Amino acid sequence: MRVTIFGTGYVGLVTGTCLAEVGNDVVCVDVDANKIARLERGEIPIYEPGLEPLVRANHASGHLRFTTDAASAIAHAQVIFIAVGTPPDEDGSADLSHVLTVARTIGANLARHAVVVNKSTVPVGTADAVRAAIAAELAARGANVEFDVVSNPEFLKEGDAVQDCLRPDRIVIGADSARAIDALRTLYAPFNRNHERIVLMDVRSAELTKYAANAMLATKISFMNEIANIAEQVGADVEQVRKGIGSDPRIGYHFIYPGAGYGGSCFPKDVKALEHTARAHAYEPRLLSAVEAVNAAQKRKLFALVERHFGGALRGRTIAVWGLAFKPNTDDMREAPSRTLLEQLWAAGAKVRAYDPEAAGEAARIFGERADLVLCDQQYAALEGADALVIVTEWKAFRSPDFERIRASLGHAVVFDGRNIFDPKAVEGAGLAYYGIGRGRSI
Ligand code: NAD
Repeated sequence: MRVTIFGTGYVGLVTGTCLAEVGNDVVCVDVDANKIARLERGEIPIYEPGLEPLVRANHASGHLRFTTDAASAIAHAQVIFIAVGTPPDEDGSADLSHVLTVARTIGANLARHAVVVNKSTVPVGTADAVRAAIAAELAARGANVEFDVVSNPEFLKEGDAVQDCLRPDRIVIGADSARAIDALRTLYAPFNRNHERIVLMDVRSAELTKYAANAMLATKISFMNEIANIAEQVGADVEQVRKGIGSDPRIGYHFIYPGAGYGGSCFPKDVKALEHTARAHAYEPRLLSAVEAVNAAQKRKLFALVERHFGGALRGRTIAVWGLAFKPNTDDMREAPSRTLLEQLWAAGAKVRAYDPEAAGEAARIFGERADLVLCDQQYAALEGADALVIVTEWKAFRSPDFERIRASLGHAVVFDGRNIFDPKAVEGAGLAYYGIGRGRSI
């Protein structure tokens, strides 16, 4: 099919590439001319495992094209995806300005029927707003063109995005038109071969499904962080508790890892946006508020441990940080717990030497040149001249380090394990003090 995708970020670029990979003719549009120029040259603006070879191969075969020319991209399409950002507004609601700009652009250019598919995460009722924006533009130029608007929320995970897109565990489609459902069934047929993955529903339910999924996952994380904090107070080890409860299939092992709090471009903003939606409909979402409050406190947890260890005297100290991305296998630092830690360390007068396998460029972009930050290109280089090591992101490369080398490098033999990736006995056996999250003896 002929597909156009507005927005070449994590969602748009991966979706466009995977649709091209199965033979569709895909045009990706972005307002960021620099991004489009880089993609044209075969440079991938984000780090996403497996994406680069797929983009290059499909670009070379002509199945995947990049442009800033929205009009020609709309003329090309049978199906038009909206995959632009929906960042939080000041009041926590989702900012729909990019989505509605695209809708107006579609209305201003549409010359024949197309199915408009909203893939951005948007509040309930947005499909109606998109439909109205397109219709208003069509009416303004006296054009009589039919179109459908469908909700098709995206569930890919950064770091696994290509695999999630090629082998989705579900494809949620919210639609009220048989013509649109047919088009999406055809488009998704290559990803829906072994068993039925398409979950058809009405548009509003599809819009809410995305928020419900992210709010549920955020709730699991905050729940476990709360248990970790209780474990710390009562002298229990949350890692043993985690295994003890995960073995119950009603609970399961997934997403019950305590840590330094959730971050990223989705959970924080989506929990806030769902809270906002609830309040706009006169419902007080008490659980969601608690999920957020626990997370905000958890993001400050590592600093609290470091500060307590050094008796509040952090001025002039240097702290080594392993991991800046909000999770492994991505370079994304949006709302990352590392940012909270760094800001707190700097405010307390400490310097930071940081290493991340992929996010150094992003960190340099966010923080710029500053005397109290050294971005290292090797993980052990971050330890040079440092007083302590803090693990913030659980990259695989950090899991079995040379603890003797860490002890020999650090001024003070102490490790703060913000993701509980180490066996405390192994760390202590090397002569290092160990602090984890909710592991009893951290107090
Ligand atoms: P992103 O910020 O990485 O990319 C958005 C892109 O849209 C940018 O390149 C921007 O330049 C472009 N854009 C903005 N206005 C435009 C316009 N008028 N025309 C064309 N392009 C325009 O965002 P993302 O992470 O890909 O997320 C996109 C949406 O998908 C959001 O609603 C997000 O909540 C949702 N989502 C994200 C993920 C994720 O893991 N990142 C997962 C599921 C859903």
